[in-house]
Amino acid sequence: MKTSIATVSLSGSLEHRLKAISAAGFDGVEIFEQDFIAHDGGAAEVGAMVRDHGLEILLFQPFRDFEGLPEPYRSRAFSRAERKFNLMEELGTKDVLVCSSVHPAALGGIDRMADDFAELGERAAKRGLRVGFEALAWGKHVNDHRDAWEVVRRADHPNVGLILDSFHTLARKIDPNSIRAIPGDKIFFVQLADAPAIDMDLLYWSRHFRNMPGEGDLPITSFAQAVMATGYAGPISLEIFNDQFRSGPTETITADGFRSLRAVMDDVQHREPAWKADLPSTAPRSQVKGIEFIEFAGQEEQAQAFAALLASLGFHRKLVHRNKALEVWQQGDVRLLVNSELNSHAGDAYAQAGLSVCDIGLLVDDAAQTFQRAQHLGSKPFSQSNLPGELEIPAIRGLGASVLHFLDQPSGLADVWDLEFRTTDEPMPRAAGLQAVDHLAHTTNYSQMLSWTLFYASLFKMEKSSLVDVIDPDGLVRSQALETPEAGLRVTLNGAETNSTLAGRFLTQSVGSFVQHIALATQDIFSTAKALKEFGFAALPMPTNYYQDLAARFDLRPDFTDRLHAYNILYDEDAGGQFFQLYSAPLANGFFFEIVQRQGGYRGYGAANAPFRIAAQKRYLRTAKTPVR
Ligand code: MG
Ligand code: MG
Repeated sequence: MKTSIATVSLSGSLEHRLKAISAAGFDGVEIFEQDFIAHDGGAAEVGAMVRDHGLEILLFQPFRDFEGLPEPYRSRAFSRAERKFNLMEELGTKDVLVCSSVHPAALGGIDRMADDFAELGERAAKRGLRVGFEALAWGKHVNDHRDAWEVVRRADHPNVGLILDSFHTLARKIDPNSIRAIPGDKIFFVQLADAPAIDMDLLYWSRHFRNMPGEGDLPITSFAQAVMATGYAGPISLEIFNDQFRSGPTETITADGFRSLRAVMDDVQHREPAWKADLPSTAPRSQVKGIEFIEFAGQEEQAQAFAALLASLGFHRKLVHRNKALEVWQQGDVRLLVNSELNSHAGDAYAQAGLSVCDIGLLVDDAAQTFQRAQHLGSKPFSQSNLPGELEIPAIRGLGASVLHFLDQPSGLADVWDLEFRTTDEPMPRAAGLQAVDHLAHTTNYSQMLSWTLFYASLFKMEKSSLVDVIDPDGLVRSQALETPEAGLRVTLNGAETNSTLAGRFLTQSVGSFVQHIALATQDIFSTAKALKEFGFAALPMPTNYYQDLAARFDLRPDFTDRLHAYNILYDEDAGGQFFQLYSAPLANGFFFEIVQRQGGYRGYGAANAPFRIAAQKRYLRTAKTPVR
């Protein structure tokens, strides 16, 4: 089974696109006619260029407004088709997509349309070409794949088949299981595209908001399952019209596309084990049990200032590496590593972004399988030279400059702390009650949010929440949360649209960094806050106005809001329970810690507080001397 992507999904010159498509691992491309016309070079040259990149042209598209026309339009449509056939011969491709007509003069009539296709099939057959009919969701007479199939069935010509596009079927809420009644050998080509659930005009939605399978809300896996049930063995292709993608980095979009296609076809194989596709398969999504460590890159004064911050949070410098400048600070189940090695990934990360998170270690059910799945989805392995006695812990390069390590219990990888580190003799301080990592917050450009969502949701068992808009005084930040079923890993993704937002400032000041804040969980925020005050922790000051508003919003007793205010604790409620938040002062690059307490079944992340927290952080950065760059 061949994988493909339409040139229209990408930006850049045709050659640049082909290079990225090939590097991502696709077998072929759909040549979108406009992309060919915009290119400065003939059809034969384009065909050769495609093949030089190790790719195949699997489809030429689109041929519009063909079927059901009266004369003189009908004859003209056939001569247009002959010219396209010439072009296809020069390109060296066999299949053309004919999308259902939106021509004002189109008459409709299943038999009339079937006759047109039978004649077109006859002309195509003379040249060894094939014609595929696709129902556009907004087609004038045919807007449903079941009707397109009836046209193809009645045309009854071996060179005429059906083309399915998940968007056109699912956007109209047509049951994808209706595909199961179509013979697989009459389906010539299948296109996949997802889209966010937005209620809008179908044509506009399709041309601007499509995204990769798994990035949107359409039931793409059910669609692909129905297709595969027919015995279809042709190409699976991505046809994604999206404004962001067409202005985004081509290599990222192609890598995302490959990841999404692999993930959806793998899901189909796991759901329907009886169906064996000619595609490599891998282990199912991995279970994340927890965060084993978070590693910071830090050197000299920045590392010292950061160590002081960790001490003020009640962390204990418990372990040091036997061979490396690597320290482990621990409290409860939270392990924060500070890596000062120069010639290492951490050294590179420090040079790029200053003090920043450079690596995350996840405790998974099976580290080797997780590593295998990540590679299957296109991630590159990461390794650093190991000294004798050091464990080979599987790791990948994530998005941007991130690195992820996978540890598990059964293989003994989680014993790394005993094997590679020695304990310090520093006395254990009084703990502040911080027990675990509640969530990690990534900050990215808004356009890369979908990449991160796909990265996490395709590799791990994770549920995504709906997008929330967070108002920064200087612009909008979009936020989306992903979490594993047992909350072993919770991630919030914040997409900044402008550089003047706090998230945007973080992006410009710490290029290549990705974790903007880490939230640590306590079971008693007031006693934690009290302990931290004694340790000299610098909390983010919150204004009186915030507490007055809070009292009114939730009808809180004055002595309770006074207590919150005394410790600069933020508060939120939902139907499930209460949520308390306490923030550290931000470092100058925008990184900060958050301390949270979830009570009852509170599920959110305090989005209602975000605008006030961001305003307070910005005020702090303007006025205060910051502890670390
Ligand atoms: Mg299509
Ligand atoms: Mg947070």
